[in-house]
Amino acid sequence: MHRFDSDVEALSQAVLDYTLKRSRMHPVPLDGPRSAAELDEAAGRTITAGGLGGQTALELFTEVLAPACISTDHPRYLSFIPCAPTEASTLFDLVVGASSIYGGSWLEGAGAVHAENAALRWISDLVGLPEGAGGVFVPGGTIGNLSALVAARHAAKVSRAGDPPARWKVAGTTQAHSSIKSACDVMDVDFVGVPVDEHGRLTGENLRRTLETVGADGLFAVVATAGTTNFGIVDALDSVADVCAELGAWFHVDGAYGGAGLAAPSIRHRYAGIERCDSFIVDPHKWLFAPFDCCALIYRDPQQGRAAHTQKAGYLDVLTDAAEFNPSDYSVGLTRRARGLPFWFSLATHGTDAYTEAIERTLEVTRFAAAEIERRDYLELLREPDTSVVVFRRVGWTPQQYQLWSDRLLIANLAFVVPTSHEGETVTRFAIVNPNTTEGDISTILDTMA
Ligand SMILES: *Cc1c(COP(=O)(O)O)cnc(C)c1O
Repeated sequence: MHRFDSDVEALSQAVLDYTLKRSRMHPVPLDGPRSAAELDEAAGRTITAGGLGGQTALELFTEVLAPACISTDHPRYLSFIPCAPTEASTLFDLVVGASSIYGGSWLEGAGAVHAENAALRWISDLVGLPEGAGGVFVPGGTIGNLSALVAARHAAKVSRAGDPPARWKVAGTTQAHSSIKSACDVMDVDFVGVPVDEHGRLTGENLRRTLETVGADGLFAVVATAGTTNFGIVDALDSVADVCAELGAWFHVDGAYGGAGLAAPSIRHRYAGIERCDSFIVDPHKWLFAPFDCCALIYRDPQQGRAAHTQKAGYLDVLTDAAEFNPSDYSVGLTRRARGLPFWFSLATHGTDAYTEAIERTLEVTRFAAAEIERRDYLELLREPDTSVVVFRRVGWTPQQYQLWSDRLLIANLAFVVPTSHEGETVTRFAIVNPNTTEGDISTILDTMA
């Protein structure tokens, strides 16, 4: 299994052929799920004592398993948050896989870590963070948010060592991503829900008012969202930063989806105040065109991340005693793939201007979608998009009608758009992060709702 022989040579060719074939397809097939029984039937027994052989296993993947996975990079995949990796980043994912790089320490992965840090620096500059800022690429926003909050609490624990509060608290809005509440559960801290203003945003004023009611004792962090998942709303970051400064609370900005908008001049003003954050996350696998799974976690003062996350053990002393930058010291987790490299390679290849252009292109299509929805009398826009999420209703439809419509689109291989809910009402939404999504794609989908 560990020798490169003529079978492996042939298998390499087959793997590269598949990769090339899929990369050349525009659009890729949308595909869709099948039941476990159907897959059992079609795939048969795949794990056997003797093995199937690489060619047979690959064929099983390309003919049976892959078509049962929706292509998240299809231009009419507009559900949840799609993934739209650049060709360069997808190709480089292969290279990273072929290179057996350990990305957790400088000692083992210096070259990879150096490159990842350059990509993190670009993001820090977009945010407006000082020279000393830094962090690590983690698997996703969920781990990024958790790691930032763990660092925030660690800092608070140190500063209140003699006088700990009865309960530690994190404040955010009900529109904050589910991973924030999940992080609070993991950490056993309380989540203080702050009502949003009439634009759906967290504001300093509402935050202050809520804390006056419930008390600010034990509050160690405030989470603002730069691009909520359901609506793409950017909170009033500057006024939230004011309250954090008054209270000495850590200011975390969750830009998992919307952080990419920092690179788009047409909406950059919405993020005013973001430069005051103590920590920030953005998922390049969402709107920054990297393959799964990739989240950039950045601290204003990386020492605070390090103080909270460095794992200590005799077998790690050679790493922890070194002055070098070890990515594993900055998040939950130890072993890590150099998952920032596909993103770095694409940035290095195309330059940052190409990213600005591609993000602006998705915003153009978003504005077109909003205007088209307003123009059609059977549709209603719920609010003007802040970023690239468009939420709308089909007048008169029941939840069942939305679901049926959504199922039909997928079965017809036309589009993947699922219902969502807002204040108890079933509606639907487009999340537009793929520069290959066109105005024509949007019109085609809207036509199916007439
Ligand atoms: C997607 C998302 C997350 C979670 O990120 P994962 O990469 O899915 O773990 C967190 N916050 C926001 C605002 C998101 O959109």
